Formats: sequence, structure tokens, C-alpha cells
Amino acid sequence: MMDMAQAGYATDSIDLRSDTVTQPSPAMRQAMAQAKVDDDVIGRDPTMVELEQRAAELLGREAGLFMVSGSMSNAVALMVQVSRGDYFMAPRYAHILSHELGTASWLAGGIPVELGWGETPGVPKLAEIDAIAAEEDHGHAYFELVPRLLSLENTHNHAGGTIIPQALSDALMAKAHQAGWQVHLDGARLWHAAAAQSITPAEAAGAADSVTVCLSKGLGAPVGSLLCGSQELIDRARRARKMLGGGVRQGGVLAAAGLVALEQELPRIDQDRILARRLAQGLRVLGFDAPVPQTNIIMVKPGQASQLSASQLAASWNKIGVRCLTMGPAVRLVTHRDVDESMIDQALDRIEDCLKA
Ligand SMILES: *Cc1c(COP(=O)(O)O)cnc(C)c1O
Repeated sequence: MMDMAQAGYATDSIDLRSDTVTQPSPAMRQAMAQAKVDDDVIGRDPTMVELEQRAAELLGREAGLFMVSGSMSNAVALMVQVSRGDYFMAPRYAHILSHELGTASWLAGGIPVELGWGETPGVPKLAEIDAIAAEEDHGHAYFELVPRLLSLENTHNHAGGTIIPQALSDALMAKAHQAGWQVHLDGARLWHAAAAQSITPAEAAGAADSVTVCLSKGLGAPVGSLLCGSQELIDRARRARKMLGGGVRQGGVLAAAGLVALEQELPRIDQDRILARRLAQGLRVLGFDAPVPQTNIIMVKPGQASQLSASQLAASWNKIGVRCLTMGPAVRLVTHRDVDESMIDQALDRIEDCLKA
């Protein structure tokens, strides 16, 4: 690890790099210490069973399966639904295409096909799905690739935490099913999308055959993702996870944190959107190009405020203790459970001072 003080960073920094930088709450650590556990590879761990059932219930699916990461959940979802010679479609810059080093196609053997964005950044056009489905209607020779699965991402990380409007999500999934394709939903931040639209996570998950959610994105758990779907799909997924060495023996220690995340952190998740809007509003006042965020991710461009490039801007903010990352041509700031209003205002003050300096 780089020594922060030595590298010239403020030590009392406000960490907006991601909603994954959170500390597990005292309640989580206590639940982890006291969790009832058993071997979840040769049998079942009772706390793990409870978490998987709870997640499946929240998402309105028959069953759930714990994974150590969202990337593993996505890979397993494709492993059980896509084969060699199939292709799977996902919107441009989807995590599954751009941020997982190709594992999905490598392990599942499917060929990724990138879909353009429609009006809503991060969301494919219904018309494009129609066109691909119609092409298939003409019948295909034995040597042609077969479309097999549509993967959607809600919220879309790279687009700036954008929500798939629920009616559009339902329509996209219905079209895919009509065409005979499977539907996977990468819902690492589905919680945020559901809360912002005042619907349940199950409603937001719609008709997807498989859904990935994360416990460590805004919910404060140290680790964990769940893949949810039909019992039959999850039975196959458990075998696929085993192939990746993804079983966790006394997994209840981790599941206990996840249960606290779902019980105590999920109800407050929409606070992150409110904080993000406050931050974006303050940045606009300073002259930055910071559109109103749909959820907890803010994409900021220098705008009128600064001549610096996004990466120079990020470097200067990191130096004054407003920790952030760049994503594409923007600086990405993410709100989460470990920042509050006063810290957001403090970050804005520092950024303003930095502009004057
Ligand atoms: C973070 C993220 C993932 C992967 O989660 P990891 O636990 O980091 O592997 C998948 N999809 C989206 C949209 C994400 O933001």
C-alpha cells in the first residue's frame, strides 16, 4: 500500500472513489463474530442458507447463491446459460463486457456482442433488440452464431449510475423472451434503481432469468454477491461455482454481514442518491459540468470551472483529500453509507478552495 501522507494526500480524506470503500458497521462485525456456521461445501451453513433465502425472497426468485464477488456471479450466470458458439448481448461499457477481463466469454464460451445505447445512457434500444430478433426469424445456417442471452445492467455503472426506466426494462426483457433468449440482469446496484423509483427490488428485477446483486456496493458488507433465479438454475450454478473453486466453507461468517446489510442498510440506500444530488448541485454552482445523478454515482467534467483534464482534476482533488477516480472522460464520485451531508459540504469547500488557489 502507498503511504497516503507520504504521497501528499490529506489524511482526513473524504473517500468518494466508490461505494465499495465502506467499513463494516459495528452491528455487522458483531453478527459475524456470533454467526452460527457449518461447512457449506460438504453440506450447508445455516447462516448462509438464511442469507440466500432472504435475497431470493427480496428479488422474488425461487433460490439464491452466494458468491464472493459480482464478477463471479456474472461469470457463473453466463456459464449456466450460454455455450460455445452462442452469443450474448450487453450494452456498451457494461461491466460484464468492459470490467471483467473477458471472464464471462472465456469461461462461458459465449461471444460478447455490444449493443448501442438508446435515449437512456447504458440502456439498449428496443428497436435494436427487435432488429436482431427479426434477423433470426429468417432462420440461420448451421455455421451462424446463435443469440442466446441478453444481459442488462441496472444501474449502469459506466454510464453514471443510470436507471433502466421500469417500463423499458420490462419491454426489453419481454422482447428477449419472445425471441427465445435468456435474460440476465447485472444488478450490482439494483437496490439503488429500485429505491429511486419507489419500487421493490423484485419489481425492478422484472422477468430476468438470473439476477446478480452485490452486498458490498453501498450496503457496507465486506464481501458478497448473490445470484438469484429458479431453483433449477441455481442448482446448476452451484456446480459451476464449485468448478471455479468458489465454495466458502464456514461462509456464515460472511453471510451474517450480508444479512445485516439487507436488514439495516438497504432501507437507507436512497440517502445516497440524495447526497449525490447535493454534491452535484454544489459542483454545478462552482461551474463544473455535473448532471443531476439518477442514483449515487456522479460523473463530473471540468466544464466552465477548470481548464484541467478529468484526470488532472482527479489528481488535484485526491491531493486535497477528496478521493475519486476517473471513468472515461469524467471524474467519478460515488456516495455511500460512510459519508454524510457535512462531509459532502466539506468536500465542496475543499474543491472551491482548490479552484481559488
Ligand atoms: C462492481 C460491479 C460488478 C462486480 O462486482 P465485484 O464484486 O467487484 O466483482 C458487476 N457489475 C457491476 C455493474 C458493478 O458495478
